[in-house]
Amino acid sequence: MPTLLVKNIHTLVTMDDQRREIRSGALFICDHVIEQVGTTEELPQTADRVLDLGDRHLVLPGLVNTHHHFFQTLTRVVPGAQNSSLFDWLSALYPLWQQLTPEAIALSAQVAAAELIYSGCTTASDHLYLFPNDCTLDDEIEAVRQTGLRFHASRGSMSMGESKGGLPPDSIVEAEADILKDSQRLIEQYHDNDPYALVRITLAPCSPFSVSTELMRESAALARSYPGVRLHTHLAENKSDVTYSLDTFGLTPGDYAASVSWLGEDVWHAHCVKLDDKAIHSFGQTGTGVAHCPCSNMRLASGMAPIRKMLDHNVPVGLGVDGSASNDGSHLLAEVRQAFLMARVREENAGALTAREALEIATRGGAKVLGRTDIGYLAPGMAADFVTVNLDRLALSGTTYDPVAALIFCTIDRVDYSFIHGREVLNPEGLLTLDLPVVLEKHGAVARSLAAYC
Ligand SMILES: [Zn+2]
Repeated sequence: MPTLLVKNIHTLVTMDDQRREIRSGALFICDHVIEQVGTTEELPQTADRVLDLGDRHLVLPGLVNTHHHFFQTLTRVVPGAQNSSLFDWLSALYPLWQQLTPEAIALSAQVAAAELIYSGCTTASDHLYLFPNDCTLDDEIEAVRQTGLRFHASRGSMSMGESKGGLPPDSIVEAEADILKDSQRLIEQYHDNDPYALVRITLAPCSPFSVSTELMRESAALARSYPGVRLHTHLAENKSDVTYSLDTFGLTPGDYAASVSWLGEDVWHAHCVKLDDKAIHSFGQTGTGVAHCPCSNMRLASGMAPIRKMLDHNVPVGLGVDGSASNDGSHLLAEVRQAFLMARVREENAGALTAREALEIATRGGAKVLGRTDIGYLAPGMAADFVTVNLDRLALSGTTYDPVAALIFCTIDRVDYSFIHGREVLNPEGLLTLDLPVVLEKHGAVARSLAAYC
């Protein structure tokens, strides 16, 4: 099996159990798995391939994105949705999303995956919840596979249109029997529960305001009948979301989740901006995870999630760029910075979240939220998913005191190398897995065609 030696790493940020940061570090990789971690002096001196970083790069575990809607890269900054909060924003965009085609799904997924890879992400979850014009989750899985990104594909769903008291138009919701049948097909066709899996399937009814309680319950039962299939939805995103829950179910979002069996180590909820103390406590006790999406929450004026409190109650917290029509970017390293800053503002405490804690949410935290024990830190036996940042760049000049903290305090435009599953997918020249200019040209053309429906 091919071996790779990465040596003369300025600082190797392992994020391992001791949180070791190794000066003059090195990694020795066999195929897609890390075999050795240490100093350049300690590790083997040769391998099939040697990447000498010349003592100028930080190396860190690949970041994990736990919430996104890749298709929305086609509808960023839509004028009618630029200044709206959640429900109005959705209502303005549904007519555009209704025009999506399989090609649009594939192109938007590749654009989002490319943005994520450039910004340090090596594993992402995506939540695709509408399937007009014969679109399928298969279109997205195949498109992302080409990028090299490790991928948790969520089979989203909407079943409750306006006529049944839901928010989406009736024309883009699906029959519940069809949703469950397709969910089962996708699990059986794609879900890989082995260590180092590149594709896993999640079941993900879109939100309490777009599916029935029966679909929530049945999706949970279906997911739990297969090993490693997780559950994901949006919860307690803003004030209106809470009001809808109280008016419709007579329950807070946390109580609603409990009532449909959506608490547990196999569940994570996006946003949770308005999760109350009782729910935070029960999330912590049950190991229910949260995808924190600070940019989207600010963009839609949803509020600031109580992340410090969640961490203190042992709630697994990961980061999500969300979007891309509510962020409107997919820059995961920038999202880490926003999470770090937002926690401080929310608590009015400059020590509320440290740079290293923010980085931990984006690595170990995200891995935990996605139920992965093979990613999130760099140690023997872990997947070879890592990224490098060259210290010789404008944004990092003057950060010699603590270059690791500088990753979060400063603004890094992109990472320099990215390896996923031991495969080099990005280097300083660019993305190696896609012909990005061609993808962007086609993606732009599709976006222009959707603009007619604004
Ligand atoms: Zn979302």
